[in-house]
Amino acid sequence: MIGTCKLCGEQRQLKKSHIIPRSYYRSAKRGQGQLIKIKDDQDTAPMLINSDPKEPLLCQDCEQFLSDNYEREGTRLFKPSRDRRHQVVRMGEYVKFKGFKYRLTYLYFLSILWRAAVSRLPQYAGVELAGIEPYVRDCLRRKHLDLNPQIRIDHFIKLGIVRVVDRTGAVPDSLLKGAILDMNRSLGKPASTQGALFYFMVDGFLIVYVLKPEPSLEQLRTARFEFQVPDRSSVKIRFLDIQEVAEISNVMAAAIRKAQEHPEAGPQ
Ligand SMILES: [Zn+2]
Repeated sequence: MIGTCKLCGEQRQLKKSHIIPRSYYRSAKRGQGQLIKIKDDQDTAPMLINSDPKEPLLCQDCEQFLSDNYEREGTRLFKPSRDRRHQVVRMGEYVKFKGFKYRLTYLYFLSILWRAAVSRLPQYAGVELAGIEPYVRDCLRRKHLDLNPQIRIDHFIKLGIVRVVDRTGAVPDSLLKGAILDMNRSLGKPASTQGALFYFMVDGFLIVYVLKPEPSLEQLRTARFEFQVPDRSSVKIRFLDIQEVAEISNVMAAAIRKAQEHPEAGPQ
């Protein structure tokens, strides 16, 4: 299909692009993983899906550009590695990433949020970047965080990562690691009144994006939230009990219930 590529803006043959990178679906399907899609309202039951949404978004060159520059680094972040320089080490109450490349990792997760924001698929209707989308696109293309000498894109869109666990053991870790929660806007009231919060979950890690206006540039630069990923080469990722995130505990409880009610049915 010929259309306008969302990244370079040229009229090109468009590839069917994934919003959440394909490698996560591959690893989820290999295990007992089911893709869990939750809707932004409380009446709709969560849906288990086994297909990954795709749509014509990017030309071959731009798809390759994002893959070469960000996905290769980003998708291995949560995977065990023999390379001692790049390791995920589980230590007591946190997971440590060694050899963490902040800029590339940030741009990688930014590219996933951006894909969902420019997508026309109905499930991403609540995900939008409005006026800052052109700046995001520019950062992705230039592989930079700087918008000007004072302000960076990560001052506007703050990235947080936590490892979701269930201390009660009711939700097995294999389910948490195998499930993919698609990109969503948070139901949380504080987020909707002061900015926005978007999240998705893969490999047991919850990725959170916070867009919150601040009264001054100085505050925008310095304000941090609890799980925000620091710009360092060694990063500690906290564990977060699933009970602290109602949106995830509800959807996981529903997934387990469905699996128990229809053990023969499998994902829809
Ligand atoms: Zn393009």
